[in-house]
Amino acid sequence: MTDLPWTVWREAVITEIAPVTPRVKRFVLAAGFDGFRPGQHVDVRLTAEDGYQAQRSYSIASAPDGTGTIELMIEGLDGGEVSGFFQEVAEVGDRIELRGPIGGSFAWGPEEGGPLLLVGGGSGVVPLLAMLRHRARAAPEIPCRLIYSVRSRAEAIALDELEVRARDEPGFGLHLLTTREGAGRRIDGAVVAAALADLGIPARCFVCGSNPFVGAASALLLAAGLRPATIRTERFGG
Ligand SMILES: Cc1cc2nc3c(=O)[nH]c(=O)nc-3n(C[C@H](O)[C@H](O)[C@H](O)COP(=O)(O)OP(=O)(O)OC[C@H]3O[C@@H](n4cnc5c(N)ncnc54)[C@H](O)[C@@H]3O)c2cc1C
Repeated sequence: MTDLPWTVWREAVITEIAPVTPRVKRFVLAAGFDGFRPGQHVDVRLTAEDGYQAQRSYSIASAPDGTGTIELMIEGLDGGEVSGFFQEVAEVGDRIELRGPIGGSFAWGPEEGGPLLLVGGGSGVVPLLAMLRHRARAAPEIPCRLIYSVRSRAEAIALDELEVRARDEPGFGLHLLTTREGAGRRIDGAVVAAALADLGIPARCFVCGSNPFVGAASALLLAAGLRPATIRTERFGG
């Protein structure tokens, strides 16, 4: 497969759609490229009949596997222009325009080493899932912890997969926080300290989610004494 430059818009076909949580759907796309790094994203462009265009970014959830397909997980936001299309209108067989893969520093591969600390809020777990999937296949010896903050277990993306990984993969641990269920806990210094006590000093930290989540989580990592140069962030908006 010859990968086109990331700047070129190309057509991708939706080959599968499945619900992941009440608000998130999973889309498999025949994208025609495979040379991406876990953590990278694509830009999607929709064009209306009158020529109006809307463009948004979506992280790749899958690890590179040589098939030329990628998996996206898109949360339907109230009144969301592009996520609303994916939640309510998109069907298997639809062709959509995308370009990518995009993202230089927010990407991880085994050559970057570990330990690896991943911190995700809500749909911000999507690029971290790609890293976890790639680590399991390509470098299972690298220790890794995921701190994942969601409103409730029902809204947690890929929770079954994450819990199976935490049970079966030596070196991987999950710290799940539910903000609107049970005692309702947000990420705090004690959670970060527990993850670091388990993991050791991470060579790389990846933090992803809404603007407020990324701000709060990165401040906690810095307060825990981690070096700024080891922390990479991706902000989804909101
Ligand atoms: C690098 C990158 C990767 C991303 N990956 C994903 C992904 O894997 N899955 C995913 O679901 N989204 C992802 N996003 C967010 C995505 O690009 C869109 O911003 C999101 O789908 C909303 O677009 P929309 O057109 O539906 O909403 P809009 O019509 O733009 O906005 C609708 C309303 O939602 C608010 N809003 C916009 N974005 C957010 C947000 N992220 N959180 C809360 N409120 C918001 C707006 O302020 C507005 O009030 C990513 C963003 C970036 C920058």
